[in-house]
Amino acid sequence: VKRMRLDKLLANMGFGTRSEVRRAVKQGLVTVDHVRVKDSGLTLDPQTAVVVYNGEQVVYRDVIYVMLNKPQGVVSATEDARDRTVIDLLDPEDRVLEPFPVGRLDKDTEGLLLLTNDGQLAHELLSPRKHVPKTYEADVLGDVGEADIEAFQAGVTLEDGYKTLPARLVIREKVSDDSSAVKSRISLTIHEGKFHQVKRMFEAVGKKVVYLRRIAMGPLTIDPELPLGAYRPLSELELAQLM
Ligand code: URA
Repeated sequence: VKRMRLDKLLANMGFGTRSEVRRAVKQGLVTVDHVRVKDSGLTLDPQTAVVVYNGEQVVYRDVIYVMLNKPQGVVSATEDARDRTVIDLLDPEDRVLEPFPVGRLDKDTEGLLLLTNDGQLAHELLSPRKHVPKTYEADVLGDVGEADIEAFQAGVTLEDGYKTLPARLVIREKVSDDSSAVKSRISLTIHEGKFHQVKRMFEAVGKKVVYLRRIAMGPLTIDPELPLGAYRPLSELELAQLM
């Protein structure tokens, strides 16, 4: 087993963010092999070291990082009273590692979802201060045009008064069906993640999203080989880019 930094072990096992656990170590709340330590950078073998945090033994579990191509009809939660969750799509041996979705996609949204049990990484990817870019593909009812590109670049005001950060809208193609309703296929990159953000941004310009799929988040891009509902571990390269 690879050696691991004490602060990483504690953060991965859910004892707080990296800076929170560093503070706790400095305060003398942590022992390793029954010796109080003050250095979070200490490396240890997580399988054999006896680490105790504020009286509680830290039980090491493996970490898991997978990319899921989320289908419609499942919710981005670990448990739900009514609906199937993204966790239900995982194999039992992966489920025991207790991964959770990093952020949320709506029940009717498809595409890239990262699942991990690495609390530290999730915290950083979701931090509003980090502005991690997310790119979506959508079908929108109506004729999306230059005015919308400019409005999204400037920021639009949602119905609750929130003004969105600059976002990049690209028009991919237009389809008009027999009913003469025009649909536009677009991609949109946003740097924040308000509730239903993409749908509400189009509502703000009088248009309706009828299909939504996430294709990228930070350095991760949806693997075109992954069928809907399937998942795979992140590659070494993808992991390195995330860290
Ligand atoms: N924006 C939305 O409206 N829904 C999602 O699922 C993701 C982004």
